[in-house]
Amino acid sequence: MPEGPEVRREADMIARAIQGHALTDVYFGLPRLKRHRKSLVGATITKVTTRGKALLIFFDTGGVLYSHNQLYGRWYIAAAGSQPGTNRTLRVALTTTSKSALLYSASDISLLHAEEVERHPYIMKLGPDVLSEGLSWRDIGHQLLSKPFAGRSLSALYLDQSFVAGLGNYLRSEILFAAGVNPKARPNTLERRKVNELARATLMLSVRSYKSGGVTNDAATVKTLKKLGATKSRYRFAVFGRDGEPCYRCGDIIERETANGRRVYVCPSCQRV
Ligand SMILES: [Zn+2]
Repeated sequence: MPEGPEVRREADMIARAIQGHALTDVYFGLPRLKRHRKSLVGATITKVTTRGKALLIFFDTGGVLYSHNQLYGRWYIAAAGSQPGTNRTLRVALTTTSKSALLYSASDISLLHAEEVERHPYIMKLGPDVLSEGLSWRDIGHQLLSKPFAGRSLSALYLDQSFVAGLGNYLRSEILFAAGVNPKARPNTLERRKVNELARATLMLSVRSYKSGGVTNDAATVKTLKKLGATKSRYRFAVFGRDGEPCYRCGDIIERETANGRRVYVCPSCQRV
């Protein structure tokens, strides 16, 4: 499933294509949404943003298109009126004079009024967004040590959107490794110094992934691996998907475990705490 950084990049792509332009045509594939078509033709997109893994498209009419890709949904950009070659089912098409933004396969789609956004059942449950501009590592440190979260395992917290929204499975492995903490650890058993390190890594790796298109490995290692001719799939992660291979930091062999129903990758030497 795409995580916060991937969804935010999708929002940026849609904004570059259609933000600031009036819609010349609108299509909804789901019967329950078809009645909204008329109200959106002629509307202008004012903002495209994300909350956790939800994507929000704001219109100057006060309407907001909410969509969550879950496992299958995907946005494409095409020349106005044309469609990419895909067997997927078209669910939304927002067309301006030059471009179409097309959402395929997703089913969690609704049209809200701007004042309803905060009351949407998914958005209501979200914690602070890891990519929100005002968020500092101290805010994340505060979340880690707050009552609902301090006694829970990090492996559970880093999949829980009410802890910090936008995190997900690859970020969980990468952040815990970068901070040198074990997925089984709980914030209230860590030294304060370690909690701060974890909070900083949470913010830093999420932003790095957003800016780099999914690369969370540290810059020096990426540079070395690129020089050796490594492809993105080889240099992208420090531990995620690298079970059986040596840790870039210490040389020990990365292990794959299952925690909270999802795979997590750990260096047994770097993540003892
Ligand atoms: Zn290591």
